[in-house]
Amino acid sequence: MHKLTDIRILLVDDDTFILKILTKMLNNQGIMSVDSSDNGLDALAKIDHAETCPDLILLDLNMPNMDGIEFVRHLVEREYPGSLVLVSGEDERMLKTAEKLVHAHQIPMLGYLHKPVSPDKLAEIIKKWTPPEKKLRQQSEKKIYNEQTLQSAISNRELVNFYQPKVAVATGKVIGVETLVRWHHPTDGLIMPDQFISIAEKHGLINDLTCLVLEQALAQARVWHENGIVLRVAINVSMDNLTSLNFQDLVVNLAVENGLSPQNIVLEVTESQLMGADTRVPLEILTRLRLKRFHLSIDDFGTGHSSMAQLRDIPFDELKIDQGFVHRAWADETLRAMYDASLSMAKQLGMEVVAEGVADEEDWKFLRQTGCDFAQGNFISKPLQAADFAQWMEEWNKRVQSGLIADLA
Ligand code: C2E
Ligand code: CA
Ligand code: CA
Repeated sequence: MHKLTDIRILLVDDDTFILKILTKMLNNQGIMSVDSSDNGLDALAKIDHAETCPDLILLDLNMPNMDGIEFVRHLVEREYPGSLVLVSGEDERMLKTAEKLVHAHQIPMLGYLHKPVSPDKLAEIIKKWTPPEKKLRQQSEKKIYNEQTLQSAISNRELVNFYQPKVAVATGKVIGVETLVRWHHPTDGLIMPDQFISIAEKHGLINDLTCLVLEQALAQARVWHENGIVLRVAINVSMDNLTSLNFQDLVVNLAVENGLSPQNIVLEVTESQLMGADTRVPLEILTRLRLKRFHLSIDDFGTGHSSMAQLRDIPFDELKIDQGFVHRAWADETLRAMYDASLSMAKQLGMEVVAEGVADEEDWKFLRQTGCDFAQGNFISKPLQAADFAQWMEEWNKRVQSGLIADLA
């Protein structure tokens, strides 16, 4: 059994005086295994070694070089199994926002402490700590695939596309779909993209993967088109796809082969974690595709992977507000402010806006009051197999007629 006094704590704060005080306070509470780092890099090195990896991190948000938010991103990449407490001199709102970010990354967060930290508050928060049994179990259920397996899955065409509808908020009209890839594994069932996209990116397989997804999606678009359903089909493109000029030829050729107009092909772009500083080639490819009238969409806007700098540099037609700022934005002032800011910025830049993660009727009603162009999310439809699309569309149109757009009509 884990006793509270056995817990291993790592303090991360650039202020060495605070490190000393907190260490003393913890020692006074009987917790002797307290380590400290005065910068993020040093702390990450400790987390990388099993012998020094802590059960709990007390993290200062404001540090020079690597700040607390960036540090949390590194924790997520490492799948850090322990818990976290944020410590800061910032006001309540800032701490709450940071807390939400941490929650969004699914790191167990015991809470936050204001500076100066009182021994009572510290003891109170440490008491909340429990061993991370549940999380460990979840992680071990998620199988890790290696690049050879993924490579042969791509060659054997085991990847299948699902399509999630996008609808116009004002009229309910179905305007397009986003292509979301899954892996139909011969023995493990349907594998979600978060279990293999990053492997593909890391091991140079993302071009083959995207090529297969694009090929199947555009062939499907042609079938819909032939059946009288004209949809804008969106594909997720990782910045790693945009390092060779072949990508542009691939997109153009597939559009021509399938008789599709570039306006009905949307490339949803996110920044890759692996991308180097040189953005000249990706920029060139995107600009040329835009000149040919393909639609460019900036995905996950508002998260770390999607930045203002991209908005400045790339001529996007569409902005997708990340689901983290959409779902329950009606109930939360901070989310609402971020949602509003993203929407109005996109409008000022003449872009169309898609709200992602519209998960329930409250979200939908909220969007209806805000002038957002398009909506996507489980409230409208989960990602579907192509074969189920026509039936869904019929049901959706019935839902629309029976009052979904009545509130403003
Ligand atoms: P994304 O581009 O942000 O796609 C939206 C994700 O949100 C999808 O997850 C979708 O199923 C999920 N989603 C949609 N509506 C809701 C909702 O109402 N509530 C919640 N909680 N979730 C909702 P999925 O399919 O697991 O895809 C995850 C990510 O994998 C995608 O995020 C995208 O970044 C990546 N991805 C998927 N397909 C591809 C691909 O072909 N190429 C690349 N490079 N990345 C892909
Ligand atoms: Ca996307
Ligand atoms: Ca997205």
